[in-house]
Amino acid sequence: MKVMVAVKRTIDANVKVRVKADGTGVETANVKMAMNPFCEIAVEEAVRLREANVATEVVAVSAGPQAVQETLRSALAIGADRAIHVQTDALLQPLGIAKLLKAVAAKEQPRLIILGKQAIDDDNNQTGQMLAALLDWPQATFASKLKIEGDSAEVVREVDGGLETLAVSLPCVMTTDLRLNEPRYASLPNIMKAKKKPIDALTPEQLGVDVSPRLKVLKVEEPTKRKGGVKVADVAELVTKLRSEAKVIG
Ligand code: AMP
Repeated sequence: MKVMVAVKRTIDANVKVRVKADGTGVETANVKMAMNPFCEIAVEEAVRLREANVATEVVAVSAGPQAVQETLRSALAIGADRAIHVQTDALLQPLGIAKLLKAVAAKEQPRLIILGKQAIDDDNNQTGQMLAALLDWPQATFASKLKIEGDSAEVVREVDGGLETLAVSLPCVMTTDLRLNEPRYASLPNIMKAKKKPIDALTPEQLGVDVSPRLKVLKVEEPTKRKGGVKVADVAELVTKLRSEAKVIG
């Protein structure tokens, strides 16, 4: 069973994100970039499936400019067997990415496609769902546990009220939640080995996909600064402040 994993290069999760002065987006110049954390979980899960002899090959796919090859190298260092870079400098949105992934899936014929549940930069949480719809495959989103048995997958999902267990037939699309696994650190030997693994290049034109944006970002703003808290002397003062200043009680 071949597993395809979609990985996105995003601003490193430990970096404080800054909005560009002109409000057109967030600053990415000279900012540390890394693989989206949910995508790391996706790669880890796919590699575990291969290590358990459930998957035969893990193919990592990323769309974006030349720099996404670094992210693909990280996926190869975690243990993916090979990678595909869909090269484009165009602004990509979830629908365009889902169309690209669909076209790559048509070439690769995976039985399972794993994506992160969301990219921590745009927080769209759309690509996996759109991909499943375009492929007309079942989907299991926000997975916190996965078990493949024959031609189906049992997926435990984190939902508001608790956990939901789904059985989906393969091929299917799955998106990862935080508690699915803890991704390993790539060891130095594996980082070295990853340098020799192949990264194939494709373009949206070769895949016959139009990635032109369907949405226009009007403005990006910093969240309003939180006011500092105050210490109150006693309950009576707290109640007075809640009534007269915060106006949350009558
Ligand atoms: P989003 O819908 O933007 O929140 O992204 C959800 C998931 O879609 C990510 O965790 C990735 O698995 C995948 N994805 C998003 N953008 C890309 C990209 N440029 N290349 C490959 N996969 C992507």
